[in-house]
Amino acid sequence: MVRFNDIVDEILKYNPQADVPTLERAYIFSAQAHKGQTRLSGEPYLVHPLEVAYTLTKMNLDIPSVVSGLLHDTIEDSYVNKKEIEEYFGKEVAELVDGVTKIGQIPLKTSEDSRVENFRKMILATSKDIRVILIKLADRYHNMQTLNFLNSDRQVDIARETLEIYAPLAHRLGIEWIKGELEDEAFKYLHSLEYKTINTKIAKKKKERDAYIHEVIELLKSKFEQYELHAEVSGRAKRLYSIYRKMMLEKVELDDIYDLTAFRVKIDSVKECYLALGLIHSFFRPIPGKFSDFIALPKPNMYQSLHTKVVGPYGEKIEIQIRTHEMHKIAEEGIAAHWKYKEGRAFDPKEDKIFGWLRRVIESQQELKDNKEFMEVFKIDLFPDEIYVFTPKGDVKELPKGATAVDFAYAIHSQLGHKCVGAKVNGRLVPLRHELKSGDIIDIQTNPAHKPSKDWLGFVKTSRAKTKIRQWIKAEQRERSIELGKTLIEKELSKHDMSFSKMLKSGELLNIGKEFSFETVDDLFASVGYGLYTPLQVLSKVIPENEKPGKLKQIISSIKRSKDNAIKIQGVDGMVVRFAQCCNPIPGDTIFGFITRGRGLTIHAADCPNIHTYDEQRRIEVSWELNKGFTYPVKLKVLGDDRKGLLSDISSTMASNKVNIIGAQAMTNSDRTAAGIYEIEIGHMSQLQKVIKSIQKIKGVRSVERILGTV
Ligand code: MN
Repeated sequence: MVRFNDIVDEILKYNPQADVPTLERAYIFSAQAHKGQTRLSGEPYLVHPLEVAYTLTKMNLDIPSVVSGLLHDTIEDSYVNKKEIEEYFGKEVAELVDGVTKIGQIPLKTSEDSRVENFRKMILATSKDIRVILIKLADRYHNMQTLNFLNSDRQVDIARETLEIYAPLAHRLGIEWIKGELEDEAFKYLHSLEYKTINTKIAKKKKERDAYIHEVIELLKSKFEQYELHAEVSGRAKRLYSIYRKMMLEKVELDDIYDLTAFRVKIDSVKECYLALGLIHSFFRPIPGKFSDFIALPKPNMYQSLHTKVVGPYGEKIEIQIRTHEMHKIAEEGIAAHWKYKEGRAFDPKEDKIFGWLRRVIESQQELKDNKEFMEVFKIDLFPDEIYVFTPKGDVKELPKGATAVDFAYAIHSQLGHKCVGAKVNGRLVPLRHELKSGDIIDIQTNPAHKPSKDWLGFVKTSRAKTKIRQWIKAEQRERSIELGKTLIEKELSKHDMSFSKMLKSGELLNIGKEFSFETVDDLFASVGYGLYTPLQVLSKVIPENEKPGKLKQIISSIKRSKDNAIKIQGVDGMVVRFAQCCNPIPGDTIFGFITRGRGLTIHAADCPNIHTYDEQRRIEVSWELNKGFTYPVKLKVLGDDRKGLLSDISSTMASNKVNIIGAQAMTNSDRTAAGIYEIEIGHMSQLQKVIKSIQKIKGVRSVERILGTV
């Protein structure tokens, strides 16, 4: 059992100036907080924080970390709160203890492999300070050692969580000894039978193996001495879980595994590592393809070593790792090694595979002056660009920072996104644009009648949400366009006593569509509704010729009226008026007429590029006769701030666009916005677009949209 003095002794070994009084205060504080509490083992609860703090000294951690180790369960398991800890031990310790408490509250549900990685990231993202994870690992290390006191269901749950989440975290931070311990302990509970079998067999052959290890070590040593290499050689049985994993992966029996032992050569310099490797290969035949150079290419967790497999004295395979003393310390202690051995310059900062944050730590380490400054580095945001949040069922979703409830809804399912009206974050109702934080539990509220809004595009962060919303809007616009186009064509046909439904049934409308290269009638309707073609253009072939001049007469009469004496056109009725093919002017466009000899009057759009090729003198100013046949009533919904003068600004903007307002209704909402619905007369889409654009420019206007049907 660890006593408080053991902790102090350990700390003084690596930090002779350690603030022992603060440690003492933390010890007393923890003892008071946990007074009367016992562990399931029957021991006083205080044993646990002492063990955790002791493990932290084994990682050579700083005083705030060890103090936090002593206090780590006080918030969760006693009446103490964060504020109190801050009062007594300062903000740094309070943050660390709070961080450890928060990790404990993450509802970890381990299941599919892909999600496990997200859980690990979530822990990293929630912690914000690597020391929090180190304390949590020390906590888990002791809990695993006392797991036998729990019931078997809890044992399996905790063991699995340890194997899937905490052991990989320890590995990622490069703390191999903790990783190994956690794995072996978890293995004991998850596959107890296999654990026992391997354990027994290894124990049985212990004597034999010890003799063998001794023999190989002596052999290696004598060779090194011959060549004056000062190397430390050791051999040990491999860890149980790594043997088990090897058996599973390579589908071999325990008796077949020769390399149950691993040999290690520790040496002074990198140069000597390669010398030793060459020497070993000269007397033990290397097995092809079994050599790895992790010195030149370190692993992401900073691990460096040379690995080789050779054929040993009995024809057996031997695995040998060769590394410098410094590499060894980092291999065993990982991040923690940096507290002690700050000169760790063995890492190539160019190594891209090192995790971003880890690389920053290592690079910035060069400029760090003392431990305290070094510690600051660990307070960086580990995942500056991501957040990790939960579904109500406990699944983790990764989202970019700044993601909102709508992003979350679309990340689950596009239908959930389309129908979402609000969200509960950690049980509290929030608006859709609410920004999520790591660790939030989000419950999306839906309404089956709800539809996505264009406004959402203004705040969603994920491209998935953006794409889904745009797709929906596009599909909806198409639907509206089809409806509108249908109505316009139907109206136009009824003017000429033709039946829309008959033409639809007979396929005549489809044929018309095909002439315009449309595959379906809906495509044809949509093109009219969208304003690509006018109903007249589309129907020009089916409308009897003698019914068309009506329209042309109107144009000519407007020429006569507006340009009374400018040009006298003889024989108006007989004059051919055509629309230029190059620009296809349609109602709403500004137009010019050009008299062409023998071909009558050709009407061009004012912005037609061909207009300049015509003789100025042949130009006649013409305008559309916007009678009822050429205007379409359109309803616009304008949403804006509820401010004085907004309504009059909107109507004067419409007037300056020469748009006639047929009807208007306005209402103010409780959220200080005003909504207005204007029914206006529009000759063409382009005019409508102009009006919409200029209304959008009015101060306080939030959105302008065209609506169909009754509102
Ligand atoms: Mn604990």
